[in-house]
Amino acid sequence: ILAAIFFPTRALSKFYVTVFMNLCNWRGPAFREENAVNEHHHSHDHDHTEPPSDLVLRVQALESLLIEKGLVEPTTIDVLIDTYETKVGPRNGANVVARAWGDSEFKEWLLRDATAAIASLGYTGRQGEHMKVVENTPTVHNLVVCTLCSCYPWPVLGLPPVWYKSAPYRARAVADPRGVLEEFGTELADDLEIRVWDSTSEMRYLVLPERPEGTEGWSAADLAELVTRNAMIGVEKAKTPVNIGRNR
Ligand code: FE
Repeated sequence: ILAAIFFPTRALSKFYVTVFMNLCNWRGPAFREENAVNEHHHSHDHDHTEPPSDLVLRVQALESLLIEKGLVEPTTIDVLIDTYETKVGPRNGANVVARAWGDSEFKEWLLRDATAAIASLGYTGRQGEHMKVVENTPTVHNLVVCTLCSCYPWPVLGLPPVWYKSAPYRARAVADPRGVLEEFGTELADDLEIRVWDSTSEMRYLVLPERPEGTEGWSAADLAELVTRNAMIGVEKAKTPVNIGRNR
């Protein structure tokens, strides 16, 4: 416009407009980079309206609100998360299972009163107040789910994996447990009974897997290496000595 006013000749004004636009573009890289970042964000193959991102946003909103209203300290949240991510985890459960494999008296106690037997090893706390241990045998395989939400025995297994909280697992563990187990690579004999346990806030379940063959005389620490989180949820079996490269 300025070019057109000061240099009325049409061709000349066009020239100045071009110069003006190029000058504007000169400070463009930052803007273009910003655009590139946006494009990058939106080229992900996930849908932004998927429940997980929505859930993450809601959690963040809730967290900021709680902090803003002074109901929680940010450091408290960090300590809680750190505790369950790094200090409490499936190793606790593995120690419980290994102890039961090597100590029949403890195993009997564990099956009768899991909460007390587990607490005797020092594993207590939130989401572990009411525990039940279910034993896999040559004729019965147990599988744990929370059909309603994500109830899980924190003191022995830590925080639940994402798939455990997912709607497909929660629905299919009940409707088609054998199919779910197959997807985890767990194939069971056709005549094996599968029992599905629905965790609630009143009762959390832990599967006691079958002790693998070829582990006679192993220490509790060695046995614990065979016990995975998935085996204690019941979607897999315990590892074998061969699986961990100890075939002797
Ligand atoms: Fe739940």
